[in-house]
Amino acid sequence: MSECYYCGDEYKKYMKPIAELSVSYAYMAGYQKYYPGRCIVCLKRHAEEWFELTDEELCGFSRDIATVARAIEAAFPCDKLNYGICGDGNRHLHMHIVPKLKDGYTWGKLFEMLPPVEDQILIPDAQLDAMIERIRAHL
Ligand SMILES: [Zn+2]
Repeated sequence: MSECYYCGDEYKKYMKPIAELSVSYAYMAGYQKYYPGRCIVCLKRHAEEWFELTDEELCGFSRDIATVARAIEAAFPCDKLNYGICGDGNRHLHMHIVPKLKDGYTWGKLFEMLPPVEDQILIPDAQLDAMIERIRAHL
C-alpha cells in the first residue's frame, strides 16, 4: 500500500474520476455542498513540486487544468474559478479548481479546503455521477 494519498487508494473514498488527460487525471470532489462543480486535477506520476516537472509536464499540466476549468465553468456557471495547491497533507502535485459565486460561501477569501466537520458528507453516488457527466459533456 502506498503512503501517498493519490498513488494509493485513499483518494477513492472522497472523489471519483472524470477523465484521463494528457499528464493528469481529473476527479470530482465528493464534498460538493459549498462549491458545486469543484474538481481536482492530479498529476499522473508522483511529483511534489512544480520544479520537478519536465517542460512537457509543465505545459501539459497547465493545459489539463485549463481544459477542466473551462468545462467546470460551462457545466456549473460561476462568478469566478479559484485555483489552489497546498500539498501540506497530500504532497502529490494536484490542483483544486473551485467555482465560486458572488456573495456565496467564502467569496472574497480563500476557499475552504475542507467543509466544516458537520458538513463533511459525501454526496450520493448518483448525484456525483450526474455532476461528472455534466463536466464530461464539456471536455
Ligand atoms: Zn503520489
